[in-house]
Amino acid sequence: MIKSDPDQYQDIRDAVRTLCAEYPDEYHRQVDQQRGYPEAFVDALTEAGWLAALIPQEYGGSGLGLSEASVIMEEINRSGGNSGACHGQMYNMGTLLRHGSPAQKALYLPKIASGEWRLQSMGVTEPSTGTDTTKIKTTAVKRGDRYVVNGQKVWISRVQHSDWMILLARTMALADVKKKSEGMSIFMVDLRQAEKSGMTVRPIPNMVNHETNELFFENLEIPEENLIGEEGRGFKYILDGLNAERTLIAAECIGDGYWFLDRVTKYVNERIVFGRPIGQNQGVQFPIADAYIEVEAANLMRYKACELFDAGQPFGAQANMAKYLAAKASWEAANACIQFHGGFGFANEYDVERKFRETRLYQVAPISTNLIYSFIAEHVLGLPRSF
Ligand SMILES: Cc1cc2nc3c(=O)[nH]c(=O)nc-3n(C[C@H](O)[C@H](O)[C@H](O)COP(=O)(O)OP(=O)(O)OC[C@H]3O[C@@H](n4cnc5c(N)ncnc54)[C@H](O)[C@@H]3O)c2cc1C
Repeated sequence: MIKSDPDQYQDIRDAVRTLCAEYPDEYHRQVDQQRGYPEAFVDALTEAGWLAALIPQEYGGSGLGLSEASVIMEEINRSGGNSGACHGQMYNMGTLLRHGSPAQKALYLPKIASGEWRLQSMGVTEPSTGTDTTKIKTTAVKRGDRYVVNGQKVWISRVQHSDWMILLARTMALADVKKKSEGMSIFMVDLRQAEKSGMTVRPIPNMVNHETNELFFENLEIPEENLIGEEGRGFKYILDGLNAERTLIAAECIGDGYWFLDRVTKYVNERIVFGRPIGQNQGVQFPIADAYIEVEAANLMRYKACELFDAGQPFGAQANMAKYLAAKASWEAANACIQFHGGFGFANEYDVERKFRETRLYQVAPISTNLIYSFIAEHVLGLPRSF
């Protein structure tokens, strides 16, 4: 393993690494080739309590900070796994924790912490609105003691491996609200129940082995007690959680970055071409050194974002910058890794092509690079709003 600075989380790193070592490359490769879901790996992480890191102890979690949680995600990706299969379980519950009623928290959080219930899914994106979330067209109309949902979502991940989903829907039409961010609400959706009564799931085959779906709602009824927080404030509640999600995904990219750097440095030291290790050529060394520098820099911003979150300070700029830097760094590392493996980079058995596909996603989801530029330009630099 290449050196990264020792930090105060070595105990967590060692424990997660030990668990991950039981799921070697062959395991993740097979799951990828079969387009399967890493059930055994996710179960092991759940049983060991790692996915409940952010749930307070009173609800059965370990009550750790975002820094520790981010180290867990980083180590999963650094081991060759893909946190994308399970990261929702770690952060989706944050919305419930911050905005749920005491009764909702008492109902859901202990079961999520124990793994009895998976809350892996969050339904926000829609096909015709994309990143312009306030234009969502899915509606939830109150009828008696229920909300009736109609509409469509796209790219909703882990629905087939989750018990619950947090759904964002309009409870008041865009034309009737003062601010476009008002009039949306969030609900807990019992997925297995919903599949029997108004929700259709259509899987989207995609480049990564990432279980993601189109969802169609036709008069899906949700009990009113499944509304989280106040009606009409759902968009704000969702936004509150997105920065934690971005920071955790930054940590995953950092884990990927180190994984690529570990693999490529080992390979270029061993591979002899023209009578010398290819790593002796500066044309090979420099892109790898460049990627290492970028991963290390992203790591600093990740910890900055975590520290601010854990201290209860605003951290939107740092979360977005960490995600930007880390996604870019892991992609640079991925490019260097596949390039200097030559033809072998394309062979499944080296796992480089799999990780290459996996890490590419993070320039687009959960937020695209352009939208991060736009956030920094407008909210940090004070440039005019462009949309
Ligand atoms: C594998 C996968 C899993 C996902 N999982 C989930 C999930 O679980 N739940 C969920 O709700 N969503 C999920 N998403 C959706 C994801 O969050 C969106 O794909 C992402 O936010 C981009 O939105 P879009 O695809 O609609 O792109 P669009 O909004 O159509 O944007 C397309 C491109 O145009 C650029 N662009 C758009 N507007 C501007 C602008 N004003 N200025 C400059 N550039 C602009 C964007 O940066 C982007 O590169 C997932 C997506 C993928 C691919």
